[in-house]
Amino acid sequence: MSSLKFDVAVIGGGPAGLAAALSARTAGAKDVLVIERDRELGGILQQCIHNGFGLHRFHEELTGPTYSGRFIRQVKADAGITVWEDTLVLEVRNDKTIWAINPQQGLIGITAKAVVFAMGCRERTRGAIRIPGLRPAGIFTAGAAQRMVNMEGYITGKKIVVLGSGDIGLIMARRMTLEGAKVQAVVELLPYSNGLTRNVVQCLEDFGIPLHLSHTVSFIHGKDKITGVTVAAVDQDRNIIPGTEFELDCDCLLLSVGLIPENELSRGIVDLDGLTSGPTVNQYRQTSYDGFFAAGNVVHVHDLVDFVSEEGDIAGKFAALYAQGKLPTATNVVAVKAGQGIRTVVPQRISWPDSSGKVRLFMRAQEPAVRVKLKIAAGEDVLVERQLPIARPGEMIVVDVPFDKIPDCTQEISVTLQAVQGGGLRE
Ligand SMILES: Cc1cc2nc3c(=O)[nH]c(=O)nc-3n(C[C@H](O)[C@H](O)[C@H](O)COP(=O)(O)OP(=O)(O)OC[C@H]3O[C@@H](n4cnc5c(N)ncnc54)[C@H](O)[C@@H]3O)c2cc1C
Repeated sequence: MSSLKFDVAVIGGGPAGLAAALSARTAGAKDVLVIERDRELGGILQQCIHNGFGLHRFHEELTGPTYSGRFIRQVKADAGITVWEDTLVLEVRNDKTIWAINPQQGLIGITAKAVVFAMGCRERTRGAIRIPGLRPAGIFTAGAAQRMVNMEGYITGKKIVVLGSGDIGLIMARRMTLEGAKVQAVVELLPYSNGLTRNVVQCLEDFGIPLHLSHTVSFIHGKDKITGVTVAAVDQDRNIIPGTEFELDCDCLLLSVGLIPENELSRGIVDLDGLTSGPTVNQYRQTSYDGFFAAGNVVHVHDLVDFVSEEGDIAGKFAALYAQGKLPTATNVVAVKAGQGIRTVVPQRISWPDSSGKVRLFMRAQEPAVRVKLKIAAGEDVLVERQLPIARPGEMIVVDVPFDKIPDCTQEISVTLQAVQGGGLRE
């Protein structure tokens, strides 16, 4: 058994972890460790061979592997960053001891002065949504199918139904079509898609794939192998409307029914937000427990990887400062709360002192709306007000608040969305 010490240990080698490792080095960390359970770095991006990555960061349309490749090369070229691939972190303790395992070193004990959680998120499965039927083969989560098709070279079916119209479901509908499969339909429980508008257009409309909104899969047919599904309309309380059922033949059902930040390692050490399912953080991506930081999909599910990398930059920098004893203790903390029309907001608190000059808030709307006013306020003090022509839960709202506008008092900051004349919930 080996035992080692690092300034900063980063758990997860996806875009968040890679950015965190690089910025920790830039901020002065002498030795940084990145631990990745997969056989290579890059996280979920390695299986995302479509383009659309990096528009903000590089002003280019890159594929997932190209985007992550730029970070991987920098990480591997830095002698101050140790990378352990094929290494699973089993446990993290609040004294910053990390237990990991890999085939070469066996069980490894590590201690770090600061830890960055960057474990990404996992997909909800059939068990989580309890679709009736037997347990035939041919049912996959969309992300697992994406890995099989794009990385392992297997096709999961020829006649496909996709349940869920988030970005992964939409992208997989197009991907399977391009592989020669017939995508019968994408079925969505909500009255709107949770994916980016550009993905609805480019992945479904451009290929003539039907999208059934306010519908669900109510039964899975087949014993050994899936033979079809029953689809039914749902009412506004998401209950099936009897008599609306119809059947679709398929040999494969892809489930894209939600992502959950992967916090098995951090649960019990840091406070989690019940709505994002990730750790609560301040503007430095510092969690509720001293010396633990978090970034990327482990904090909240992002739609754009550029913002994941940005969050990694922040967490890595401040983890390095903490490790060097240069991060001042917070003298005052103000809570940031999601108010009317807003489902989640990150960071959930703002700490003093601040060295960044502005605090970038990431928010998700509760439901789709047109012509709304986004208001960030501390009591009667309006810090930022902005008209939004459209707000959709699938697209993160990103707003910078100048730090000098934020009152140094304990009054919480609230973020709300209110309809302006002619606006409101989208039909
Ligand atoms: C299908 C799909 C399509 C997307 N399309 C786009 C797009 O077109 N454009 C765009 O900008 N963004 C897109 N995104 C979003 C973007 O790719 C993600 O937001 C981003 O990859 C998240 O980065 P991350 O580092 O937080 O997590 P991940 O990329 O998931 O990385 C987390 C890493 O942590 C590792 N890990 C977890 N637990 C452990 C452990 N216990 N021990 C060791 N390692 C561990 C995992 O193996 C993984 O490599 C897409 C995402 C998906 C899933």
